[in-house]
Amino acid sequence: MSGFARDTKYYGDRLVYEPLESKWAGYHARHCGCGQDWITAHVVPAGFTVIPRGKSGYYGLVGPGLTEGVDESVLTTNALWEAVTGKPGTQTWYESVNVTCRSPEAEAARKAENERIYGPRRERAEKAKNELATAAQLKYLATLTEKVGKERFDAEFAEAVKGTGIEPRAPRERTATASKRLTKAVARKLISALVGA
Ligand SMILES: [Zn+2]
Repeated sequence: MSGFARDTKYYGDRLVYEPLESKWAGYHARHCGCGQDWITAHVVPAGFTVIPRGKSGYYGLVGPGLTEGVDESVLTTNALWEAVTGKPGTQTWYESVNVTCRSPEAEAARKAENERIYGPRRERAEKAKNELATAAQLKYLATLTEKVGKERFDAEFAEAVKGTGIEPRAPRERTATASKRLTKAVARKLISALVGA
């Protein structure tokens, strides 16, 4: 999202404007059309400075009329608009500042919230990865093995378990026994390979 922001972690105590790349590149293409990169061709020459947001690829802009020498209660992107499009900005509504609070308490709260939302999801995904093949999958695999033969089964089995830590079928191991060692996900992979065989 484009917007004015404060985030001490990345920008110190500076007010910045974080432009949405696609949006501003679009404005530039429509209104200027010089074909150059809008930042290097217009923004930097106009006196704005690009401040990277860590290694994320995002960044904030600071500069005169945008974040410097401005009344924060009447923030607009008019200065940037003029630099990028070559036309005077006409934004008459004012933007607020998105403040990211970096106090230890705020950071801890953010982490806890993230854990609350994504923790269970991560756990479910982890569990699904280790879940063993279902009875229905094993039954279907037995039917398919019958149909395609042991050799084909072995070849596809070895292919399916590659990189999973599951061993290929041992010489005297029954195909049904070997199948029981499969996880649900690998069993699914093996089934589709055998169905397509
Ligand atoms: Zn241009």
